[in-house]
Amino acid sequence: MKMVTVPFFISHQGCPHTCVFCDQRAISGSSGDLPTQYDIIAKIDAWRQNAGKRPLHVAFFGGTFTALPVPVQNKLLEPLQPLLESGEIRSIRISTRPDGIDSTVVRRLGILGVTTIEIGVQSMDDGVLEGSGRGHTAADSEAAIRCIRSGGLSAGAQLMPGLPGDTAAGSLDSLEQVVAAGASFVRIYPVVVLRGTELARRFLAGEYQPPGVEEAVQLCKVLLHRSLQAGIEVVRIGLQADEGLNGDTVVAGCWHPALGQLTRSELYFDLLCKLLADFTHGQPSVVRCHPSRVSDVAGHGKMNLKRLKNNMHQTMIRSDRNLLPEEIVVDNFTCSIKGNIVTDLKYR
Ligand code: SF4
Repeated sequence: MKMVTVPFFISHQGCPHTCVFCDQRAISGSSGDLPTQYDIIAKIDAWRQNAGKRPLHVAFFGGTFTALPVPVQNKLLEPLQPLLESGEIRSIRISTRPDGIDSTVVRRLGILGVTTIEIGVQSMDDGVLEGSGRGHTAADSEAAIRCIRSGGLSAGAQLMPGLPGDTAAGSLDSLEQVVAAGASFVRIYPVVVLRGTELARRFLAGEYQPPGVEEAVQLCKVLLHRSLQAGIEVVRIGLQADEGLNGDTVVAGCWHPALGQLTRSELYFDLLCKLLADFTHGQPSVVRCHPSRVSDVAGHGKMNLKRLKNNMHQTMIRSDRNLLPEEIVVDNFTCSIKGNIVTDLKYR
């Protein structure tokens, strides 16, 4: 049963840095105040009403959790302890910087019920990290992931393709390195340039150009494909639509509310093109896929079907529970061909 995440945004709290891309206040839409113990309990109660039988998971997003004074961290985690004991919440996730992690921190958080620590890796290229004002190195990220895993917790790595000095090959290399370090999952946020940040200043001065949506989709497609090959989950691609982003806050870069779907759809489109290459143009065909993948196979706004139609391929989609989520089958009068986005596509 899918878990319901109760989110708490702690904004810039605890972070002594100013990364060139960061305006935590704009991203979270939050004033920056920490939730009180009363706020925490009240919000969980409210979410429980709507969650039905689905288990609850609490996540502290944003900021640098472990840079908060320990008594403040404890104040945020303490009200959750009885709820963990009673089973009313299942797990807790926090996010922080790679240099905010060591074995003592992991042990302390583990005792307080934290099950997942996400770290802002962004890139595994020290030049990119330096040019982005991150204030930590790739070695810090690798050590943090290993430390979290050896403490028995799940380690998430956030990657931000498209920072100054980054390249498509560099982004893929960053992914390879976090996979090799043992990351449990990744979150991919291509750069969005936010008003008021150093990156916005550089963009407006013509010193920096972030990847646009199309470029980012092609890059994220390769990162997603590699993650699937490596058996590592990509829990999110692109910032969420409700994270305080709008025309006023976004200056440039890859901002699209359905970036994840655009990316997954590209993988299915590439596979469809490969499978349909053996079919005669103009003959109608049926594409079968797992029920959970129908909208990805059809594409955002049925874009994939429209593109196939422009290529003289008349297709309709049917769901088929017997297929894996990665598989599609194309049928027409004469034959059936099955393909898999993980094993039948190559991008390198
Ligand atoms: S470390 Fe995180 S919270 Fe701090 S400035 Fe950088 S991105 Fe923002």
